Formats: sequence, C-alpha cells, structure tokens
Amino acid sequence: MTKTASIADPVTPVSSKSGDPYLLTPGPLTTSLRTKQAMLRDWGSWDGDFKAVTAEIRTRLVEMCDGGNEYDCVPMQGSGTFSVEAALASFIPKDGKALVLMNGAYGQRASKTLQYIDRDYVALDKGDYLPPMPEEVDAILAQDKEITHVIAVHCETSSGILNPLQGISDAVQKHGRKLIVDSMSAFGAVPLSVKDIPFVCMVSSANKCIEGVPGFGFILAKKSELEAAKGNSHSLSLDVHDQWAVMNKTGQWRFTPPTHTVVAFLEALKQHEAEGGVEGRLARYAGNRDILIEGMRKMGFETLLEDEWISPIITTFFCPKHENFDFQTFYNEIKKRGFIIYPGKLTNIASFRIGCIGQLHADTMHGVLRAIRETCDAMGVTDRSPPEER
Ligand SMILES: *Cc1c(COP(=O)(O)O)cnc(C)c1O
Repeated sequence: MTKTASIADPVTPVSSKSGDPYLLTPGPLTTSLRTKQAMLRDWGSWDGDFKAVTAEIRTRLVEMCDGGNEYDCVPMQGSGTFSVEAALASFIPKDGKALVLMNGAYGQRASKTLQYIDRDYVALDKGDYLPPMPEEVDAILAQDKEITHVIAVHCETSSGILNPLQGISDAVQKHGRKLIVDSMSAFGAVPLSVKDIPFVCMVSSANKCIEGVPGFGFILAKKSELEAAKGNSHSLSLDVHDQWAVMNKTGQWRFTPPTHTVVAFLEALKQHEAEGGVEGRLARYAGNRDILIEGMRKMGFETLLEDEWISPIITTFFCPKHENFDFQTFYNEIKKRGFIIYPGKLTNIASFRIGCIGQLHADTMHGVLRAIRETCDAMGVTDRSPPEER
C-alpha cells in the first residue's frame, strides 16, 4: 500500500454500499440503508400512524437519559441550532443570567444566540483546546450570585474535545443553579443520565449519534421547567413550551414536521437499541477512533488534543507543515478514494478533522487510513509533522 499513486488514479477506491463516499463528518453522516429506506413512504402529519411515530420517539429519548416521569422530550423542526436557540429562549427567563462555558465554535454560537435574544450572560472562554474546569465554574458561581443558568457543551465538535460534564454539573448543583447542556454531537454515544447530571434541559439532533438524517432537533427537559417556560420565548416557531403543550394535547407537531426524517429517525433508534444502546454505540465509535488515531500517528500526523480529552466523536489533526501539503488537494484526493473528511475550525492554526460517527466500522477506518497514505504519497508529503510554533 505504500506504492505511489498517480494523482488522477486512486489505487483503492472504497465506497459505501450506496456508492456515495463515506462521510467522516459529525453530521450529516453516513446512515444505514434501512434508515434511508424508511423515507420511501409519505405520511400525513395529523394521521394517527404518524402521531404514534412521534410518541414512540419521545418515549425512547426520555428513556435514553433515564428521565422517568420527571422529564419529557420536545422535538423541534430545523437543524440543531434551531433547537439550541429554542431552548435558550424558552428556559432562560428574560431576567435570567447565563454563564456560557466556551471552548470552541458551539460555545461561541450559544453566546451569539444570547445576544440575539437579549439575555444577560458572562462567558468563560478557554480558547480552542482547553476544557472549562469544574473548579473554574465553582469559583465563578461563588462570586456571581446573579447567574441563574450555566450552558455547557458536552462534546465541543469544533475541536472534538469531550468536556468534563460531570464535574461541571456537580459545581452547578452545589451552587443551586440550572444546567443547560448542548449534547448535540454526543447524545446517544456518550452516556448522559439525569441521575448523575440533573440538567434542566439538554439539546441534541436527529443527524448525529442516533444516526438519523437531518431535519429536526430535540430537547429533553424537566417537566417543571417546561411548565415554567410559558411566556419566555420571543419566537412563536421556537417556543418550546408551546410546542410541548400542543404536542401533549394533540399528538401533533404545531407546524409541518419533516415527516420522512421523523420516520427515518425512529428506524435509526431501533437500530441504536439493537446495537446495544448507548454502550454499544460508544464501543463502536471508540473503536473507530482508536484505529484512526493509531494509524494517523504511525504516519506522523499529530492530534490537537492530549489523549485524555479526545472524544469518540471526532478528532482534530494538525495539517503537516511540509511544503507540498495543500488542504484542498488533500481533501479532493481522499474524496476520490471514497471518503469525505472535514476541514478544521481552529482560530490560529491549520487543521482538519475526521469523524468516527455514523455507519462507519473498523474496515471504513482502515480504508480512510489507506486513502490518506496514498494521498500523501501522491502529493509527496513525506513529513506529516505540524509546524513547531503550534
Ligand atoms: C452539530 C452541532 C450543533 C448544531 O449544528 P447544526 O448545524 O445547527 O445542526 C450544535 N452544537 C454542537 C456541539 C454540534 O456538534
């Protein structure tokens, strides 16, 4: 496999069963054929059969976080960001104040959202690759009694860091404040139980670790908080309380739901269960990550993060400093070989990301490693180490 490939002629094109490249991205991601096939029917959004699908999804998601009778699930149309915005506007009262724990693009987006919806906040900004530590949260909350809510990103997908959510939650509980979790890219693959982490609300979406297709997000929240959210939201379409109240009353989504996406999601949830639920999925994703990182390090690539913080979701690698390296060519060559990787999202240094989630298995990870090796050979990138001044 070390034989030099010509740039135009990949040696080992590998592709998914559908013939499309594998998506090594954090969503949309490669879904199973069964999930895609579930979209081949049309559904009436007000019909009993579709209402039953919505109801089953809600029940399964509440179970996934051990929510029991105390929690409920509210699905919301749109991408994940719509659900985050809906949650922040609905659960943080107009006179509330948030602490945003920021270490990447999604924490920044939460802050920006608070500016749009005019909620007071302070941020703990740790830059690109350091986690917000429980001691820091503890100190800020001890000092600022006005803070009512803490917003934490579970896996910050822009670097792939898995933030220390348990410790953060303990600090928030100690001070009697409320925790809002963006577990968009982790829920379903990283355990998150309200028995350990009693969040007031958690947000995720269809096209991440549950392996559905894009189109809606969902909010898991304490029923008492859903009650109390009445009147908080500035937005009709993003009002979580209203969506919840109407859905409980009628079984329907207030406005047109992405019916095909919803039905595919239930199919994805059944496969998630068959794989062994959260534990089973975590085992496969962690296995994918381990193969990836071992292979990349053997080739001389370096990860942004120390091992302790690397999630089983997505991993950031530094771009090689070698003069022949060019990201767009690298990307195109890997795509020709059947894999789509992800550009980096760091502020100061060139990087790229490779995801481990979706219908990817050990052979897929070995396949992408082969494609990367061939690409480096073809481009003449003989040294894969990053610049010293990183
Ligand atoms: C994917 C993601 C979101 C939502 O992104 P959308 O593009 O709106 O779906 C939010 N937070 C995190 C941590 C994510 O990974």
